[in-house]
Amino acid sequence: MTKPVARPEIFSVASYVGGESKLAGFENPTKLSSNEGAFGPPPGAIKVMAQAAATMHRYPDGGSTKLREAIGAKFGLDPARIVCGNGSDELLSLLIQSYGGPGTELIMSEHGFAIYEIAGKLAGCTVLKAPETSLTTDVDAILFLVTPATRMVFIANPNNPTGTALPQSEVERLRDSLPPHVLLVLDAAYAEYVERADYDAGVKLVDAGENTVMTRTFSKIFGMGGARLGWCYAPAAIVDVLNRVRPPFPINNFAAAAGIAALAEPSWLETSRAHNSTERRRLTERLTQSGLKVIPSEANFVLVDFVTVERASAADAYLRQRGIIVRQVKSYGLPHCLRITIGTSEECSRVAEHLTEFCHG
Ligand code: PMP
Repeated sequence: MTKPVARPEIFSVASYVGGESKLAGFENPTKLSSNEGAFGPPPGAIKVMAQAAATMHRYPDGGSTKLREAIGAKFGLDPARIVCGNGSDELLSLLIQSYGGPGTELIMSEHGFAIYEIAGKLAGCTVLKAPETSLTTDVDAILFLVTPATRMVFIANPNNPTGTALPQSEVERLRDSLPPHVLLVLDAAYAEYVERADYDAGVKLVDAGENTVMTRTFSKIFGMGGARLGWCYAPAAIVDVLNRVRPPFPINNFAAAAGIAALAEPSWLETSRAHNSTERRRLTERLTQSGLKVIPSEANFVLVDFVTVERASAADAYLRQRGIIVRQVKSYGLPHCLRITIGTSEECSRVAEHLTEFCHG
C-alpha cells in the first residue's frame, strides 16, 4: 500500500446531504426543506447562549447533568435514564456502533430515516429494508426479515420523509414479537406533533423492558437544529453502554444552556403544536383541493405525491423560480414526491398558492 486506506465499508455510503438553504437569485428564500421548527429559536434560548459565552474557557459537563434534569422534569422521566447527544443523529450512530457491527443485521423500513442505513453500513452491519404499506411502516414485513443475525430494528415514528405514524398497538405488537435480544429503537424526533390518540413516543415500552430505546430531539419543535441537541431515554444497561461510547463532551456549553432555556419557555410546545396542527390541516386541504395527493402526516411536514418524477421535478423547479425551497425526496427512493415543511402561516399560504397555480396553469 502506498497511501493510507480507509475501511472499505466507508465507501459503501454517500455522505448525508441535508435540505438545501440557498437559492440562486434569492437573498432570503422561503426554506421549507429541512423540517425545522416554524417559529425559529425560542427567545429565551438565544438570551442564555450569549450569557454562556462567559464560560467558554471551561469544558462542559460531559454528562449534561443539568440538561438531563431539565428534560426529566419536563417529560416526567428519570434523568439517570437519559443520555444527551450532539443531535439525535449521534445517539442513533452510537447505538449502532454499540449493538451492531460486522455479521449483524439491522432492519429498517423501506423509506425509513436515512441515518440508520448510513450508520449501519459504516458499522459493518447488513442493512435490510422492509416494504411499507401505504407508505407506512409494516410490522409484519419487518418481522418477516428477522433472522438469528438480527440485532437492531429502527422505526421513526412518525417517519421522515413519509410523515406517517404507527399506533401504539402496532409498536407493541412489534416489540412483543421480536426476540428479546433485538434492540428496538423508536426514533421520535417528531413526537410532539402527533395528534392521533393511540400514540406513544416510546416511554411506555422503554419502561416495560430491556430492549427498547426512544430518541428525541431539540431540532424540530424546539427550533434548535443548529444547536445540535438530542437525547434518548433508555433502560439502565443501555445508558451505561452509551455513556462509555459517547464522546467526552458531546454537548457544548451554549447548546446545554439553550436547551434548558427552551424547556422553560412558557407555552412554547403548546403554541408550536397548535400552529402545526392548524397549518398542516390547511396546507393538506388546499393541496388536495388542487388535485394533489397528500400523504396524511403526523409530523411538521407533508409529503406530496406527484405520481411521476417529471411532474415532481417540474413542481420543484416552479417553486424554486418563486423563491421557495422544498425537498424532492430523491435520496429516499421517492423522487416523484416533494416534502414540504410546515412553516409560518404566511409561508404555508405562499407554497399552497404557487402549487395551486402550478396545477391549474
Ligand atoms: N430522526 C429523524 C426521523 C429525523 O428526521 C431527524 C432529522 N432530520 C433526526 C432523527 C435527526 O435529528 P437531530 O440529529 O437534528 O436531532
